Amino acid sequence: MARPDFPRTIIEFQHRFPDEDACRQYLFESRWPEGFRCPRCGSEAATGLPRRLLWQCSACRYQVSVTAGTVLHRTRTPLHLWFWAAYLVTTGTPGISALQLQRQLGLKRYETSWTMLHKLRRAMVNPEREPLTGVVEVDECFVGGHEPGLRGGRQQGIKALVIVAVEVRGAGSGPIRMQVIDDASAGTLCDFVAESIAAGATVRTDGSSGYKRLALLGFDHQPRSQRAHHLLGEDPDEILPRAHRVISHLKAWLQGTHRGVSEEYLQVYLDEFTFRFNRRRTPMAAFQRVLGLGSQQGPTTHEEILAEGPGAARRAAEFNG
Ligand SMILES: [Zn+2]
Repeated sequence: MARPDFPRTIIEFQHRFPDEDACRQYLFESRWPEGFRCPRCGSEAATGLPRRLLWQCSACRYQVSVTAGTVLHRTRTPLHLWFWAAYLVTTGTPGISALQLQRQLGLKRYETSWTMLHKLRRAMVNPEREPLTGVVEVDECFVGGHEPGLRGGRQQGIKALVIVAVEVRGAGSGPIRMQVIDDASAGTLCDFVAESIAAGATVRTDGSSGYKRLALLGFDHQPRSQRAHHLLGEDPDEILPRAHRVISHLKAWLQGTHRGVSEEYLQVYLDEFTFRFNRRRTPMAAFQRVLGLGSQQGPTTHEEILAEGPGAARRAAEFNG
């Protein structure tokens, strides 16, 4: 028996998850698609202690939380609000801002919706994801920073450097990877390629010298110089067309949906963009993913979230969404 299906429309969603009990039942079915099985003694009989989201093994009395390993673990926010948030986040094409989510769910505090969104984003990166393969375009860009004179003219023009890899799929794009980087040194650029792309793949870059050692690292490196393209009468943007398309979508998305983001959280937003892009044809399947349902990972503890360090986690802990 497979994991339970997920709702495909708002109407279906509403029928499916009208209250806390329905959400709890869904969590149970996601965790034990073939029925309860005690992780300690293997017994298949259990009693629900629903108010605490716990199931107790009838044989050895071991207690298992249905939310362990999900973003819902130890939350104080009602489950059905989390379900709605996950639905809105994963099915809305450009995504949803914390302010929009706060309004949609009728939350009193902005911090609650902000924290929920950040927790859902944490589940968007699959630690076991496969590296990109085949032919891959790689390029860097600057993201963020406000033009002087805009938005009150007070913001500092802080720009972050981002590196992007896009798998070539015919004329289109396959999966992507993105990362904030400190500099464009050869070491940094090549580390990103080695971590994101399978050895032996063909890597297309611009002519910058930082990528020169890729050939030594086992990649089929194809540097493409802008000058050579000019001489051939080609548009320089067409050297790495997929990477450039992804970069311009990213910039429009950051500005349009989120009104720009601070440097501190940029990587988290890059992860969300990557998640959306890579699942743009299966947004519904993303619903279970962001809730952390049925994941093969062990439960994430509160301490692990804190240990990860970025401000998002600290704030998440403070607000205890
Ligand atoms: Zn047991």
